[in-house]
Amino acid sequence: MKTIEQLTRPNIRSLKPYSSARDEYKGRVASVFLDANENPYSESYNRYPDPLQHQLKERLAAMKGVDPGQIFLGNGSDEAIDLLFRAFCRPGVENVVAIDPTYGMYQVCADINDVAYRKVLLDEDFQFRADDLLAAADAHTKLIFLCSPNNPTGNDLRREEMDRLLDQFDGLVVVDEAYIDFSGQPSYTGQLSQRPHLVILQTFSKAWGSAAIRLGMAFAAPEIIAVFNKIKYPYNVNQLTQEEALRLLSQPEKIQRWVTALNKQRGQLMERFAALPFTERVFPSDANFFLARVSDAGAIYNYLVEQGIIVRNRHSVSLCGNCLRITIGTSEENHILLETLRKFTNY
Ligand code: PMP
Repeated sequence: MKTIEQLTRPNIRSLKPYSSARDEYKGRVASVFLDANENPYSESYNRYPDPLQHQLKERLAAMKGVDPGQIFLGNGSDEAIDLLFRAFCRPGVENVVAIDPTYGMYQVCADINDVAYRKVLLDEDFQFRADDLLAAADAHTKLIFLCSPNNPTGNDLRREEMDRLLDQFDGLVVVDEAYIDFSGQPSYTGQLSQRPHLVILQTFSKAWGSAAIRLGMAFAAPEIIAVFNKIKYPYNVNQLTQEEALRLLSQPEKIQRWVTALNKQRGQLMERFAALPFTERVFPSDANFFLARVSDAGAIYNYLVEQGIIVRNRHSVSLCGNCLRITIGTSEENHILLETLRKFTNY
């Protein structure tokens, strides 16, 4: 197996990172800070935040059962996705492999970074075979992207195939667990110490109900986290976000109540959606949304927009012809959706 150092782009390996004022002075005893060209006036937010978010990582580490050194925090998990390309993939030379369909940002980041993006179509149950992904990879493949539960299909990927891929692939395997809190599957964080090439992505945007604070997490071996820290913007997670995340972490029961409620409503909404006359199929879901095939996704999407209800039309996505992706809302919102759809007659 290649080391993380071998996998890292040569220019990143030899990079001398920017050293901020807060990097250079880490002690807490000083009382006069004249090192960062901040304004000494103002009330609460005149100082740069902790560039490595120590307090937040301590709390997260305890909750997730990992070490603080195995955590990277970024401006949404989208930041970690972009850093993976910038750290490990040489533009125009190296490539990545991903399941298809999946979350669209992997391909966008690949395109931005001029890294070839190789897609491997899922089967009709939206599952993959490790051998197919390995066959699509070559000596220039640095990353393989898995997303479980997958977006937009909603299902957990099969564990045995994920494990097989993790056992056999030489580069990094990225497991995006943005929706893991809604799934019955355990997180891959439990395997972190045995798997030096595993990168797990999670986010505050879904179960934690905090998409607006833009806070994403990557869990990986300390060597990988060190590469992220070397190339990230110095103060990539602002103070307001760090404070709000600490507040959220002090109320995990509330998040658990939300998840329980959403999962219950998911079952009800899917069942009722399946009974609508234009629904052809509701696909199983392990996330806070589900995918459904309808007679005419475009017509139903447009009708809902006219009624002020926005869902996601996934018609143009691989394997998702005439599919809508529906996020689970409050029971009231779900009720409004169903009542509105029951009035749709143009099918
Ligand atoms: N991964 C998946 C699978 C997603 O669906 C999303 C957001 N839709 C993200 C990552 C990005 O999340 P964040 O808000 O943390 O950038």
